[in-house]
Amino acid sequence: MFYSETYDVIVVGGGHAGTEAALASARMGVKTLLLTHNIETLGQMSCNPAIGGIGKGHLVKEIDALGGAMAKAIDLGGIQFRTLNSSKGPAVRATRAQADRSLYRAAIRSMLENQPNLTLFQQSCDDLIVEQDRVVGVVTQMGLKFRAKTVVLTVGTFLGGVIHIGLDNYQGGRAGDPPSNALAKRLRALPFRVDRLKTGTPARLDARTLDYSVMQAQPGDDPLPVFSFMGNVSQHPRQISCYITHTNEQTHEIIRNNLDRSPMYAGVIEGIGPRYCPSIEDKVMRFADKTNHQIFVEPEGLNSIEVYPNGISTSLPFDVQQALIHSIKGFENAHIIRPGYAIEYDYFDPRDLKHSLETKFIAGLFFAGQINGTTGYEEAGAQGLLAGLNAALQVQGKDAWSPSRDQAYMGVLVDDLSTLGTKEPYRMFTSRAEYRLLLREDNADIRLTPKGRELGLVDDERWAAFNAKMENIELERQRLRSSWVHPGHSSVDALNGKLKTPLSRESSLEELIRRPEITYSDLMTIDGIGPGLSDMQAAEQVEIQIKYAGYIERQQDEIARTQRNENTLLPMDLDYSKISGLSNEVVNKLTAARPETIGKASRISGITPAAISLLLVYLKKQG
Ligand code: FAD
Repeated sequence: MFYSETYDVIVVGGGHAGTEAALASARMGVKTLLLTHNIETLGQMSCNPAIGGIGKGHLVKEIDALGGAMAKAIDLGGIQFRTLNSSKGPAVRATRAQADRSLYRAAIRSMLENQPNLTLFQQSCDDLIVEQDRVVGVVTQMGLKFRAKTVVLTVGTFLGGVIHIGLDNYQGGRAGDPPSNALAKRLRALPFRVDRLKTGTPARLDARTLDYSVMQAQPGDDPLPVFSFMGNVSQHPRQISCYITHTNEQTHEIIRNNLDRSPMYAGVIEGIGPRYCPSIEDKVMRFADKTNHQIFVEPEGLNSIEVYPNGISTSLPFDVQQALIHSIKGFENAHIIRPGYAIEYDYFDPRDLKHSLETKFIAGLFFAGQINGTTGYEEAGAQGLLAGLNAALQVQGKDAWSPSRDQAYMGVLVDDLSTLGTKEPYRMFTSRAEYRLLLREDNADIRLTPKGRELGLVDDERWAAFNAKMENIELERQRLRSSWVHPGHSSVDALNGKLKTPLSRESSLEELIRRPEITYSDLMTIDGIGPGLSDMQAAEQVEIQIKYAGYIERQQDEIARTQRNENTLLPMDLDYSKISGLSNEVVNKLTAARPETIGKASRISGITPAAISLLLVYLKKQG
């Protein structure tokens, strides 16, 4: 039976990719259906209850700059906020927030329920209707058919999902949810390259059975960071601390003694796991000389007794999980509420996608999220937004759009996936972006909001706030350029305590703020200059734009130079592990291939332009 309505865009899956896709398409004004297994799990975090972090926080800000949901939801659901790398340069500073799972889910659901042009429907999608290499609809588990002009698939870890705990395994999409086997079978019959990946999650513990007195408390930052460009601190719920403890030699001994019961080491799991989020058994084996590993003890919510011990993801049998957890300081009497597990699932080679995330073989069919080989909510959300946007653009008869590598981390993500593909779960890092001085969290709105407005993703309220902020920045930059201070002025002399070299001549405020030791708020203490901008985002932008202007120009020169370095020789005995900033993945690939020139290195699959820049800097330093 066909459903009475025809949709412009059907999004299958209500996880992080699916919710951003459905919201983006509906914001674009086209008729959208979000079809998902279970309405109760919309926006559910399958693994760690946290949003953001290095590289990932950048993606969240970019999603927000394009009017997306993730940053707004975490501002409403975050219970511990931090700025990572706060003492480093602005390019690598990143926001991270611990989430109350229920508050986060509720925020996402409320946005979906209040979004015009969006309808929800709970059913499993079991089949696609394809006519002459174009998708024209979907079929649900109960045989209901929906017609659509485009379909976005965002079914996460559910395709052919197999859950492993020790040597036992069973079918599942994630713990407590069914797998999508019918859809997996249908997709495997289409001409896409398909393979298996795996990921894992730790046991969840009962907070009442942990001894926090022997752990180190880790409160959030003060002042509290805010994720959304439209958000403010007053939206955050009550804030609480996370804690830190460590594994020890005894923990490692328990793991080593039971490796024959690990599905990974016994060869039961075929899929490759996330290199940067390894299981505890992987960490113990790969870093055999380390006597302990850090564990972040993260609350799952304000009204929950569940705790997420971040750092000990495992698929060892339950009795071994118990033993290893009880060997950890503070966990001696821990009760496990949910066992840890690993999951294996189908993913599709993202080289079979266009930059718009439309598949190359079936017109109108888009893939986003974990099914493209990525890992992480933020990576999924970013792809979801782009896929939903491009599905809507196609319906409107408009050209596809995806940001370039120098415009957004989203551009880096899509370009890496669709040109290089991936053999292991792909996560975002700042090191993947060669233009990272340009791609900062703080300027995501400046980079993307005007384009989002032009495309139809950004509403009037955000657009007005953005324009007001831009005007504030411009006026303040003009004021700093044209305001002069003199040595001998009493409050400037007070500033001299901070200046590395005292002011010896008249100076503009713009010159003064270029000095590394002087901040915008320092300038505002000078008589007649303050109080300055009350819009803290604009004030931060003024400071960064002036302070880092030189670095940004140098980066642009470096980009031009990289393009000229095709034939620069690489020594055959070069020890790549000595080059700081290169990821283990890149070091391994370069060491195995030993390319003769920079040009050849750049064409090795997985060697990013960012890695090439680091090689060039290293060669230059060596003379
Ligand atoms: P999901 O969030 O999985 O959402 C998929 C949605 O599709 C669900 O709502 C599901 O119900 C729905 N769905 C599936 N099939 C159908 C169908 N046929 N019809 C209708 N609806 C369907 N990420 C990390 O960054 N680090 C980690 O350490 C990590 N560990 C993980 C461990 C486990 C065990 C799991 C399950 C995930 C882990 N993740 C981790 C991954 C993280 O959960 C995902 O990257 C993220 O959720 C992917 O978002 P998504 O939208 O692509 O898919």
